[in-house]
Amino acid sequence: MAHSSHDVIVVGGGVIGCAVARELATDHDILVVERGQIATEATALAAGEITMTPLYTDNPSIADYANEFFSKYDGTGQFEFTERPSLELVPPDRKYEARKRIERLAADSLTVSFLKPDVVEANYPRFNLEEFVGVIKYQDTGFVDPYTLAMTLKNDAESQGATILTDTTVTDIRIADEHVNGVNTSEGTFDAPHVVVATGWRTEQFLRDYAQLPIRPYRTQCIVLDPIKAVSNEFPMGWIPGEHVYFRPERTGSLLVGGWSFTEDNPDSASEKEDEVFRDHVANLVPGFLRGFERARFVNGWAGVDGATPDTRPIIDAPRDAPDGLVVAAGFHGRGVMTAPVAATVVRTLIAGEQCPFPRDPFVLSRLNHDRQTSSSTVSVLVIEFP
Ligand SMILES: Cc1cc2nc3c(=O)[nH]c(=O)nc-3n(C[C@H](O)[C@H](O)[C@H](O)COP(=O)(O)OP(=O)(O)OC[C@H]3O[C@@H](n4cnc5c(N)ncnc54)[C@H](O)[C@@H]3O)c2cc1C
Repeated sequence: MAHSSHDVIVVGGGVIGCAVARELATDHDILVVERGQIATEATALAAGEITMTPLYTDNPSIADYANEFFSKYDGTGQFEFTERPSLELVPPDRKYEARKRIERLAADSLTVSFLKPDVVEANYPRFNLEEFVGVIKYQDTGFVDPYTLAMTLKNDAESQGATILTDTTVTDIRIADEHVNGVNTSEGTFDAPHVVVATGWRTEQFLRDYAQLPIRPYRTQCIVLDPIKAVSNEFPMGWIPGEHVYFRPERTGSLLVGGWSFTEDNPDSASEKEDEVFRDHVANLVPGFLRGFERARFVNGWAGVDGATPDTRPIIDAPRDAPDGLVVAAGFHGRGVMTAPVAATVVRTLIAGEQCPFPRDPFVLSRLNHDRQTSSSTVSVLVIEFP
């Protein structure tokens, strides 16, 4: 059986585990332990949207931090970040609320604008906004290929000395005197004074003996549509509140449409195929606001499971009641790819005792004010909505 000692053990080799490993590997001896292969669970299924700006309007420094990372990381290995504005389509019943929101965001110096349908259609002729009063346009958004991002982060971590173990399941965390001192795995025992748990939707169950985490599995889905005439290079991203769907162009000229997220009681056996009813919904919805999609070809579809929290933000914390040395990075609620650089930095500051360049409060476990009885029921059936 294998045995070695490290500064930090990262459990889980999804995008979060890989980002954490890269961030710490510069000056720590890191071991990543992954039960399967790197980036093959939620990470591989993500749509790759980077929409931190509309999601963190209350904390723009967090969004700025992530956006800057993606811009700078663009071109590293195979990784590419495609910057693209996002349009929130505003139906008539949301007009007042949308205007108010824009005023508030503009007062906070965010680059947002309200565009009337004719202006949008002049800029983006594929749009047909008869049923909308306009759009809110957000700058500083874009998309990535999540698998390539995770593999590039992993390669970076390895080139800085991190060890990556795949096909190895962590069975439990070893604790002595209320301090972690390593993990037991299917392949042996490993020592470290810090263990970072980034096991995606499995985290609540995995850590149940050490911390109560209000993280629930939920299932969400995507389909790709091929219009007869490809969408252009300038085509924006966007979403429709109320319909619970978002969309973005693919580099091939197809359109990726995702959404419809619901808590999942049987995550291990949840269907990996998109629901027929979701496919029908999208097929009816898209031609209503995009020209040239009436006879779009269905290219691909899938569904995946991620971890949800009651306030939609992740838990990135060394929980007060947990053993010393234990750090959690989970509950990314459909946003783990875009939040990965933020998560990596929060974890680093927790382990190295460094100052965080942005507020950490949105990620602390205690904000959720939960207890053991309510921990899993506080996340009710949810619909994930932007922003
Ligand atoms: C359909 C879909 C669309 C999405 N779209 C977006 C998007 O557009 N933008 C965005 O930012 N996010 C999106 N997400 C969310 C994003 O995919 C997740 O938030 C993110 O991948 C979470 O990363 P992770 O590393 O925490 O989890 P995962 O990728 O699930 O990785 C966790 C890893 O831990 C491993 N593991 C678990 N238990 C153990 C154990 N005991 N021992 C060892 N290893 C273990 C697992 O094998 C897995 O590889 C989407 C998700 C889905 C499903």
